[in-house]
Amino acid sequence: MGFRIGVLALQGAVSEHIDAFRLAFELMGSTGQSSVIPVRNADEIPDLDGLAIPGGESTTISRLIDKNRMRGPIEEFEGGIFATCAGMVLMATNVDDPRLTTLGLIDMNVMRNAFGRQKESFEADLKIRGFDSPYHAIFIRAPVATSCGTGTEELSRIEKGIVAVRKGKHYALAFHPELSVDTRLHVRFLEGLHE
Ligand code: GLN
Repeated sequence: MGFRIGVLALQGAVSEHIDAFRLAFELMGSTGQSSVIPVRNADEIPDLDGLAIPGGESTTISRLIDKNRMRGPIEEFEGGIFATCAGMVLMATNVDDPRLTTLGLIDMNVMRNAFGRQKESFEADLKIRGFDSPYHAIFIRAPVATSCGTGTEELSRIEKGIVAVRKGKHYALAFHPELSVDTRLHVRFLEGLHE
């Protein structure tokens, strides 16, 4: 079965996400039927099965979402959203930064830059629910969720807080799966789109 995936291309790590999805299509044997495109126009969103919101600066991405009139189409999107790092911040209902208007698609409280200056970036082997071996994750000025609520599933937690959350077809990840060689999260996201 094929997948139509878009990567929100307003700011941040777009080409890495495109490459990671291509690799995931290959592993799933669906390269021929699937596509992944950078998304710059709001009218491209409704035709997708899945949309990735990459890392970057959540305040900037939020501003560009409004500038490009994408807020409505993203909030009403019926497919799955694969949100990483700044994307996770944008998905939350509550964030510790009043300057930010989030999409509010996952009921969770998120803290931006939760690891402070000394630990701006680091790597960690995570235990992720449903995976039988650790997932090597790269964190860059990462957020964490301090709690998550209605309809959510906590997939991974470290000492600071929750770093992977699922809500239905949506995933919010505090780290950068597009920078790992491990595509298990991309594959799991894709599998959920046609369930
Ligand atoms: N610290 C950034 C923010 O809160 C996220 C960093 C990232 O996406 N790598 O917007």
